[in-house]
This record gives sequence, C-alpha cells and structure tokens, in this order.
Amino acid sequence: PPDHAELDYPQLLDTAMAAARREAGRGHVAGYIPALASEDPEAFGMALATVDGEVFGVGDWERPFSVQSISKLFSLALVLAAGGDGLWSGVGREPSGTPFNSLVQLETEHGIPRNPFINAGALVVTDRLQSLTGDAAAHVLDFLRTEAGNPAIAVDAAVAASEAEHGHRNAALAHFIASHGNLHNEVDDVLREYFAHCSIAASCRDLALAGRFLARHGLRADGSRMLSRSEAKRINAVMLTCGTYDAAGEFAFRVGLPAKSGVGGGVLAVLPGRAALCAWSPALDRAGNSVAAVAALDAFTTASGLSVF
Ligand code: GLU
Repeated sequence: PPDHAELDYPQLLDTAMAAARREAGRGHVAGYIPALASEDPEAFGMALATVDGEVFGVGDWERPFSVQSISKLFSLALVLAAGGDGLWSGVGREPSGTPFNSLVQLETEHGIPRNPFINAGALVVTDRLQSLTGDAAAHVLDFLRTEAGNPAIAVDAAVAASEAEHGHRNAALAHFIASHGNLHNEVDDVLREYFAHCSIAASCRDLALAGRFLARHGLRADGSRMLSRSEAKRINAVMLTCGTYDAAGEFAFRVGLPAKSGVGGGVLAVLPGRAALCAWSPALDRAGNSVAAVAALDAFTTASGLSVF
C-alpha cells in the first residue's frame, strides 16, 4: 500500500463525499423510534483520524448524531479491557444471518447470542460491563470523551427515553437471555444502560478519534495499552464478520474494512496500522446500513487502494 506521505487524505475525502452525494434520495431514515425519524436524510459527514493523531473531515463531520449500535463496539472493548474474557462463554462470534433485533436463534442456542453486535449479544456485553464497572453507559461515555478530547459528548435523553418507551423487543430479548441465566444484573438495569449508551450523540470526528485504538493495535490516545494486540485483532475480526448487520459479506465485498454501523446512519471503519474513519448519513438501506456512508467508504477504499485485503 502507499505510504502515509503519498496519500492525499483531504482529496480522498472529497472523492468519498462526491460518491455519497450521488446516493441522494436513496434509503430511509430509521423509524423504529420517533426520536430518530426527524433526521435530515441528505446530511452527510466523514472524518479520518490517523494513528498519529491527525484529523481530516468533510461535510457535517463535526455534527453530533445518534451513535446507536456503534456504541456496541466500545462496550465490547471496555469489557475486554477490564479483563472480562469470560464474556466469550456467554456470547459467540459468528455472523447471525438474521436481523439485528431477531429473537429466533436465542431459543435454539440456549440464550447464547450469536455475536456481540446483534442486540441480544450487545445486551450480554452491557450486562458484563455493568458487573465490572457498576455504570456501563457512563464508562462508554467517558471513554468517548477522553479519546475524542471532547467533554461535550453526551447521552441524548430524548432518544434514550424513546428507546425505553419503544423497547419491547429489546426487553423480550433481555428477559429471554435472563431466563437462561446469561444476564448477571437485573433486566431493567441492563436495558437502561444499553439504551443510554446507544443514545450517545457524537460526531464523525469524535468517533474516528475514539476508534483509533483499533487502528493502533490496542493503544489509547495517551499511548497507554487498553487491549492486547490479539484482543484488538479479535474486535476488528468480529467487526468485519458481524459489524454491519446482515450485510457484512456485502460490506466486506464493497469496502474491505472492519466496521461497525448504527441505525443513526454512522459507520465507523478501521484501517489497521493507519487510521480510523467514520462516515455518516441518516438514510439507511434495508439491512440498516447508511446508503451514503457505505458508498463513501467504498469510494475511499477504491480510490486509495487501501483495505485489509
Ligand atoms: N438502540 C437500538 C436498538 O436496540 C440499536 C439499533 C442499532 O443501531 O442497531 O434497537
């Protein structure tokens, strides 16, 4: 691959944004909770943060949006960082082949979710983080603020309330998992913490900076080791295979990077050893991935020749 020095990141981001703009009008903003449905479908932003801390951005790259399932990546990393390896006995790491909020596999697999990024698996991760720290969502928030150097990152209380009000399916998942003894905290506490970390509002800039530990093989912004190289590799692997809902194959085919998407329209992707990138646009495809953000990342890896392959 080309050296850092040979890459014109601002120009690559312009190319990516042009590709995103060509998707205007495609997809639909998430409507499963009213608090998200009012987002402007045409908004777009993208940021890239290099391993050495340089940041580049285009469009609405500093505008906060609902991180939603991107938060699942940070809760997973924080459990592993806190020594919670035992997590892997309560959650698998295989793609599910079913939608993010599906209940069907939990019964045949005895309350062990397929992977940490479907809702069922993320609930188990939040449960373990709650046991390890006592305040799971506050830990995710604190990590994002510190890595991004932005104390203004916050939980959007209106989104969190909307998640709780319309949270019957997540509650069903959590109770079913609990019935198999795979939650160690009260269901209501796990749901509250899960809804809170999903409802964090952060920008592409914030998320690219906060995702750099995965490009830096487990090192935080201050140089301290958060995860072993092996743990960082594993999280990237689970992102590649399970990070973009039931379309991880298609995403790997088009983009070729480990990534985690959320129904707020964000996609955080990792170029190991080089950079973290975040693209955002609220209109989603049928799988729940942002149409324009995926197109932008596709254009970025195609134009730069950079991917994990
Ligand atoms: N908070 C959302 C839910 O649990 C997350 C959706 C997502 O981004 O996948 O339904």
